[in-house]
Amino acid sequence: MSSHFSGSCGCGTINFEVKALRTNVVNCHCNSCRKMNGGSFSTYFVVSQKNFELTAGEDFLSCFSLTENARKHFCKICGTPVFNLNLKYPRLRMVHFGTLNLPAETTPDVNIFCQSKLPWVAFDCEMMNFKQEIEK
Ligand SMILES: [Zn+2]
Ligand SMILES: [Zn+2]
Repeated sequence: MSSHFSGSCGCGTINFEVKALRTNVVNCHCNSCRKMNGGSFSTYFVVSQKNFELTAGEDFLSCFSLTENARKHFCKICGTPVFNLNLKYPRLRMVHFGTLNLPAETTPDVNIFCQSKLPWVAFDCEMMNFKQEIEK
């Protein structure tokens, strides 16, 4: 992944920049991600709070608490999920991969919560598969 990359929500109101030498890109197959994001699984990259900067539209970011620890942050205009927060790891941002402006420049590293992966979701790459959430 490039050392400096950017992204936005669907309507372009919320923009962010990431400053990190390396982030972990994760496919998460947990039920919470399915419900929060409406997809079969979620791909996001994990970046520390200090390396994630909202550069536009912060006032249009809405937050919803799905569970005691899971917070979903999304654009209140277009509904794009931008990042999730797990209060167990408050300094990390789980930023939705699809919000990147150049998503083809990187690929996922790991699959997590594979025990709840949908049976038709198949990966033929050599990603590690974790049964439990990886330690951060
Ligand atoms: Zn938007
Ligand atoms: Zn998940």
